[in-house]
Order: sequence, then structure tokens, then C-alpha cells
Amino acid sequence: MKLYDTKRREVVEITPLTSGVLKIYACGPTVYRDAHVGNMRTFLLTDLIKRFAQYQGLKVELIQNITDVGHMADDTGLGGIDEGQADTEDRVLAQAKSESSDALAIARKYEQNFHNDLALLNIQPATKYPRASDSIELMIELIKTLIEKNHAYVGQDGSVFFDAKSFESYGVISGNKLDELKPSYRFESKEDSQKRFHADWALWKHASVNRTQLIWETPWGKGYPGWHIECSAMSLKFLGNKIDIHTGGIDLRFPHHEDERAQSNSAVATEVVNHWIHGEHLLFEGKKMSKSSGNVLLVSQVIAEGLDPLAIRLSLMEHRYRSQMDLTWNSINASHKSLNKLREKMQLWSQTPGSVDSNYLQQFESALNEDLDTFKVLQLIRTLEKDESIPAGNKYETILKFDEVLGLNLASEPMKQPEIVITQEIQSLLDERLKARSEKNWKLSDEIRDKLINLGIGLKDSEKGSEVFPL
Ligand code: AMP
Ligand code: ZN
Repeated sequence: MKLYDTKRREVVEITPLTSGVLKIYACGPTVYRDAHVGNMRTFLLTDLIKRFAQYQGLKVELIQNITDVGHMADDTGLGGIDEGQADTEDRVLAQAKSESSDALAIARKYEQNFHNDLALLNIQPATKYPRASDSIELMIELIKTLIEKNHAYVGQDGSVFFDAKSFESYGVISGNKLDELKPSYRFESKEDSQKRFHADWALWKHASVNRTQLIWETPWGKGYPGWHIECSAMSLKFLGNKIDIHTGGIDLRFPHHEDERAQSNSAVATEVVNHWIHGEHLLFEGKKMSKSSGNVLLVSQVIAEGLDPLAIRLSLMEHRYRSQMDLTWNSINASHKSLNKLREKMQLWSQTPGSVDSNYLQQFESALNEDLDTFKVLQLIRTLEKDESIPAGNKYETILKFDEVLGLNLASEPMKQPEIVITQEIQSLLDERLKARSEKNWKLSDEIRDKLINLGIGLKDSEKGSEVFPL
């Protein structure tokens, strides 16, 4: 399989370093909120690589971390602010505060939601999902090694910093050069005065007295880890010193992956990751999808509209992973319909015995081999559907084979819309909502909508009125 390697800046053949086994590390979710469909696009990229490698007979070892400590509110990943923040600005801690809950309880809740969402999108589970909060010992050991090897130093308050200048090839993934980085690319604060150089970053941060959760005792005092060190610690522990592929969204290229590479390579004195593979960002209705911009779409919202969550998977595959893509409600609706139509045809075709068409299979494999061209694969299915020279049973078997990688449950029954019974209670809520909407009382209308959802009734509003459907 060939993929675009960000560090080499070209499409390269991926040859596993250990024969027959592909080792992948994927930067996981930060569990302070539900993962949005943009995050899912990046997780899908890893799943497609994994499934296609398995299809080609490789065993895949996939480690995906759960970030439940260390990711600060302003860690944009784009050279953003990640130093010297107030303690409470850890994303999980901030969310715990706003939900009046315990930090780890918040993390476990969103971690479970993440697993549920993966299952809904047919994303196969990783070999292991280590948590940052369970890996503190590993991080401390790694930091000790970096200090011993003169790649890190301890500041006055017990924070530990990586010495960026000690790692000669810093910046080769993103193209950023240390001597060209302006001090302002990281937030400068009082704590930062402990740093020898502005581009050094914190491996461990001293905790102030205000912080009561997510703190650990270390040889340097009480504190908590920086974000980047967790991925070095967990990848080295669970995959060893040689990893074939490291995935993540494009925003993680710098500084997260650059810093991770510097830490890991310095600790074990070898190039740890062979290929850095990044997925481009997903936009939603023309705007960047991110929690901070308030423009997010969740898998649960798509389900609440009565749509098949695999319509999201299909929509995402309409574009190759490394082109930016704009997802819209229209495209999800269209994917829902085409998924159902294809499943209907598959049911019909399955009634005649057949075999896999080798010509179509070869085209399928070469499209995926050429940098995961999922768009081309979907076009190929459309051509195959209409190809009168291919017997029905062969269409079925061939598409079923494709589905091993596509993961669209194409052999399952089309999604049926079950009948709904409008009880008196439901009817009066619908009438009340209609009245609220005519009076532009959106708050009340939303409250009634939530009540209807609890009763298993979904609503689709349009200019013509509100359509109901069962959930
Ligand atoms: P986080 O939960 O913030 O740690 O992000 C999990 C993954 O989602 C990371 O690999 C991010 O780079 C990726 N990601 C975040 N936003 C988007 C987006 N809009 N489109 C695609 N991937 C994204
Ligand atoms: Zn990471």
C-alpha cells in the first residue's frame, strides 16, 4: 500500500518493518466531550489503513491513546498556546468543573461515548487503548531518561522542559525551523522564564496549590504531564522502538508530532516512526469543524435525524483522506439514500450464486494501493452496479469483498422506517410545538422536541412543516 508520508513529502510504499505485522499508533481522543464527526474522519483514516492491511494479509497492531490529562484548553496543535497555562485549563478539568463532576468520571463518560461512536461507524477496535492517566509512571521514567541524556532540564519550580536545540532534526515533519520560530508561537508567561529557549516545551508541569485533581508525585515535586510526552511514552511502551505508521489529523503535525518525535528519538537514539500519515480537516456546512468554533456535528445528531450512522462513513469516503472536505446535511442525506439503494440491490443480487470478478477486484485494490483513493472505489462500485456484462451473483460477491475494507454493512437489510403510532400525548406535544414555532418561541419548541425524542419520535423541520419519524 502506498500512502502520503508527511515527513518525506511524497507518496511512498509502506513496507512493514517486521515482516507480516504492521504497527500503527493513532493519536486518540481527548475525552472531555463527545468526539465530533471531524475527529471521526481522522479515526476512519486509521481504520481504512488497518482494514486494507488486514485485507492484504498483514496482522495489525494498533495502539490508540486516550488523552484524559495534559491537553490544555488552548493547545491548538497549530503552534498554539501550551505552556504556562493556569492549572484549571486542562480540558478534562475544565469540563469537570462545568459539569460539577470529578475529572476522571468525566473522562470515563466521554471515553465510553467514543467507543460507542466508533462501533456505530464500524471502526474496528484497536489492540489497546492506553490512558494517559494510567501511564504516568511510564512518562516519569521517560522524562528521567531524557534528563540523563541531557535532552531535558528541571526548572526552578520543578517543571521539566525538553531542550529543543538538543535535537538536531527538530522540525522535519512540519518544515518549521527552530531558528525561524518566533517566540510568540508559544504563550509566554511567568513559568516560561524558566525555559532556556522559547521553543523548549514542558514535559512535566509543576502544580500550583489550586489544583487538587490529576496531580502526581514525582522526583521533581507534585505536578502533571505535558500533552506531547504521553504519546511518546505509550507508543514506546506498547509498540517498541520501531513503529511503521503514526496517524493523526493535520493539526497535530506541529507542534504535537514534532515534539513527540524529538522526545521518542532522543530517548531511544533511533528514528522511531517510519511514516507520519495525516488526515486533512473536515469542514461542516462550509466552516471549520471544531468545538471552539461551535460548529460541530455528532454521530448522535445524525442518528436523531433518523439517518444511518454509516451514511457518515460513506460520505467521508467520497473524498480522499488528504483533501479537505466539506460535509453537509445534504451529502449525509444523499449517502443515506444511496446506502439503502445499494443494500436493496445487494439483497436481490445475493439470490443468484456467483463469484468475485477479478477485473473489478484488481481495480479496487489498485485504487486503494494508490494512496487510499476511496473516491475512486466508490465510483467503481457505481460502474459495477450498472455493468450489464457482470452477472448479478458476481456483483454481489465482488461488492461483498470490497466491503471488507469499506465497512458499510452492504449485505445487511436496507434500513426500514418502522411505523409510528401517534398517541394522544404525542399529538398534543406536536400541536403545542407547532404553536410555539408559529410564535417563534424556539426555546419551548426545542424543549418539546427533546420530550418527543424521549418518547422515540424524531422530527425533521423544513419550510413545509415538521415531519415525524421513529427513532
Ligand atoms: P482530540 O480529541 O482533540 O485529541 O482530536 C482527535 C483527533 O481528531 C486528532 O487526530 C485531531 O487532529 C483530529 N481532528 C480534530 N478536528 C478535526 C477535524 N475538523 N477534521 C479532521 N480531524 C480532526
Ligand atoms: Zn498524540
